[in-house]
Amino acid sequence: MLFLSLKSSKPRPMKYVIICLLILIISCKIMPEPSTNAQMESIMGFLASDELKGREAGTEGIAAAATFIEDSFKKNKIDPYFDSYRDTLSNFDEVAYNVVGFIEGKDKKLKNEYVIIGAHYDHIGVTQSNSEDTIANGANDNASGTATVLELARYFGGAKSNKRSIIFALFSAEEKGLLGSKHLAEKLKNADLNLYAMLNFEMVGVPLVDKDYLMYLTGYELSNLADVSNSYSEEKVAGFLPKAKEFNLFQRSDNYPFHEAFAVPSQTYSTFDFTNFDHYHKVGDENSLMNFNHMAMIVNKLIPVMEGIVNASEQEIKYN
Ligand SMILES: [Zn+2]
Repeated sequence: MLFLSLKSSKPRPMKYVIICLLILIISCKIMPEPSTNAQMESIMGFLASDELKGREAGTEGIAAAATFIEDSFKKNKIDPYFDSYRDTLSNFDEVAYNVVGFIEGKDKKLKNEYVIIGAHYDHIGVTQSNSEDTIANGANDNASGTATVLELARYFGGAKSNKRSIIFALFSAEEKGLLGSKHLAEKLKNADLNLYAMLNFEMVGVPLVDKDYLMYLTGYELSNLADVSNSYSEEKVAGFLPKAKEFNLFQRSDNYPFHEAFAVPSQTYSTFDFTNFDHYHKVGDENSLMNFNHMAMIVNKLIPVMEGIVNASEQEIKYN
């Protein structure tokens, strides 16, 4: 002030306040908004709508879902991993493609290590049914996992905080025998991708009942991923579901082809336990039964977990 008053007979404090505010705004990184039930409802409202006719691989319905996913990637500043977002399946007779986005890591060394965050976006399409409704909308299976991945992608697209590189992969033809994930896993293995871990999401639209953990992890006993997840979230986001082991769910979703190709931790988070949802692969798997609050909560509790995993200086997730 003394200096100013010496220089100028008319100090203009407002001008300096404005300049200071501008500097503050420019230097302050605007963090992405957390997920909300309204956001989830809007994503799910499209993906599981009748218009998409159950998103069977190779149909027009799933093509609309793919375009929606691409638009979401573009809007949230996720780059295509290949020349375009589309990765056409080489192991399926009809035209089907995975949608694959990418955020390069910001650490010079760690960016050469990759984490894949994935879910399948296809479902079983139109089915035989006694009721008038013949569309298996696949809200829980697996529009819910797809929405989870899109919301995590939105977060990282805005935060750009990841030291390791992240691939966001939405798989097609899971329901035809894990074809999309098999195709991508083999393609990336042939390209010598340095994969650290593959984290997959399946059927997270309805909460577990009477469990002391939020989600279970397939292949729970194979690695320390549950412990790593729980330490970053500071609560039990991941637990052990005996039925998941009994039915060998570890081998029944898109994590498995990555486990086979890379032999690195590749596991699925889920909240479907065979008792909390009666519409598995039926026409009743609809948005009206989804719990969007639960879905948004999963994303928000996973953000510190995913941040921790992609930014840790050492690879902490290990197979036993
Ligand atoms: Zn599924």
